[in-house]
Amino acid sequence: MSIHILPPEIASQIAAGEVIERPASVVKELIENALDAGAKSITIRIEGAGKNLIEVYDNGCGISGEELSLAVERHATSKLNSAADLFQIGTLGFRGEALASIGSVSRFSITSRTQQTGTGYRLQVEAGLASAVQPVGAPPGTLVRVENLFFNVPARLKFLKQDTTERRQIDSLVTRYALAYPLVKFQLRQENRLSLQTSGNGNRREILGVLYGAEIARQMLEVIASDGEIHITGFISPTSVSRSNRREITFFVNGRPVQDPTLISALLKGYHTLLMVGRYPIGVLFLEMPAEMVDVNVHPTKAEVRFRQSDQVFLGLQNAIRKALLAYNPVANFTTSLPWQPQNSFPTSQEKPFFSWEKNLEREESFPIQDQPPGINPSSQPVLPESRVPLLRPVGQIASAYLAAEGPDGLYLIDQHAAHERILFERFMKQKDPTVPAQRLLEPSAVDLPPSQARVIAEQLPILEKLGFEVEIFGPHTFLIRAIPSLLADIKPEDALRVLVEDFEEDESPFQAEIEARIIARICKRAAIKAGMTISPEEQRRLVQDLEACQSPRTCPHGRPTMIHLSVDLLERQFGRKGPR
Ligand code: ADP
Ligand code: MG
Repeated sequence: MSIHILPPEIASQIAAGEVIERPASVVKELIENALDAGAKSITIRIEGAGKNLIEVYDNGCGISGEELSLAVERHATSKLNSAADLFQIGTLGFRGEALASIGSVSRFSITSRTQQTGTGYRLQVEAGLASAVQPVGAPPGTLVRVENLFFNVPARLKFLKQDTTERRQIDSLVTRYALAYPLVKFQLRQENRLSLQTSGNGNRREILGVLYGAEIARQMLEVIASDGEIHITGFISPTSVSRSNRREITFFVNGRPVQDPTLISALLKGYHTLLMVGRYPIGVLFLEMPAEMVDVNVHPTKAEVRFRQSDQVFLGLQNAIRKALLAYNPVANFTTSLPWQPQNSFPTSQEKPFFSWEKNLEREESFPIQDQPPGINPSSQPVLPESRVPLLRPVGQIASAYLAAEGPDGLYLIDQHAAHERILFERFMKQKDPTVPAQRLLEPSAVDLPPSQARVIAEQLPILEKLGFEVEIFGPHTFLIRAIPSLLADIKPEDALRVLVEDFEEDESPFQAEIEARIIARICKRAAIKAGMTISPEEQRRLVQDLEACQSPRTCPHGRPTMIHLSVDLLERQFGRKGPR
């Protein structure tokens, strides 16, 4: 074949492919345009998971009739004049590519009216071919309709995920912009159902509530820090709230969402030793810095950035996180951080001296306790409270769920389920090489799983084998279980297998060891004695002894506390024998 220049339609489809990968990319570009136009309200309508219709209406500055046809041309932008401007970008867009790209892979129309004129104008583009501009009646602002996305690029259509996944991507994208721009009113309707609405009142915590529910929103810790010209704000989860993957970590740099592994690792460093291995915080963080400190022209979708002073950004972020965690959750021996009502020396009965303590328990707000991931050199860790527990003398069981034990300094209340989980987990981790004892089933048991879970199991077969499962692929979504870990011997084999996939779908951890640890933690949770089981004094003694022998006895593998310590000192204060220090 001879060398030739590609016809413009093909060239523009190739270019479009870089910017518009999926419906959510269209939504992203249109939201950014609306924000750049100064919109105070952005309304988004999605049908057919974005493949049938994406409509975005904003009340921003609008585009004049004369400029409308230029707006949809490639490399046409009002946001950049000279090459030098590239290093001073204050808008979200600057490449002049989005509208042209969207127009080349859909049936597209844009209707716009500037705030100054009485008429609106409309332009239609189909697969890159633009119609003439026509005057129409329209409210001020801009309405973009994108129909039949990728109708002329069937290969793209095929690569799209299930509708639910595409919809979820759009949901999470819009919510994140809503969080980043709390003064803008966002409304998102998917398939004619209201899926997000914000008030534009500037209250970010309110929007967090929409994202994660009121309870978590209330618990999220606020981050506010500055390091030179770098300002960091946002919210992070306390150590008691965590997720099994990093998907809930979002960064905005100068108002644009970015994916940056170094930012994520700085955040995780801030949590170092405060979260269990394989658990991740929720975080929504906004970094602001002078435009010239960050290069946003690295990637067509503008999702990656480069920092001029990356060390400063990294360290600043890590410190900000650590500071927020420590400020709200002092990493001190928690026996002294229990509240003493200092107002009057003796709390009245109404005030319930233990009230906030009980509330903490209910909310499972774990006190930050050091949890040492296996294999990490303790000397490299910041000084945190001693993680080992002293020798304990069990004194009895409470509510069939907790063990009371006496230690050299006061009373320990142990959650029997969490403690047993921890014990099993460490035993599992220790013995998994070479292999975990497995129990062969007398008859193999066949299990049908939904496709998404079947995929997860199929991918993890080698790990499962290491853990004592013997599982074979039997049909498209069917597996044959021949053996299970002996630890799970009294669970139905199919339940044992299901335990592994719950909450595991779409896990994206690239680290084998992490996946393994997570599977093991899940097995242990299932195998551990439950709350509500009465256990004999002998069993209590063994449980306490086994816990004492653990590497990280103070938390369960999911990071919740296994025990609460009421020191003699605390008891004395609570009984009014000693005043507050
Ligand atoms: P970019 O945003 O990179 O400049 P686009 O292709 O997204 O490129 O948009 C081209 C131009 O069209 C923008 O520079 C802007 O002037 C105008 N424009 C696009 N969308 C809007 C909108 N919603 N409101 C006002 N102007 C818009
Ligand atoms: Mg744009």
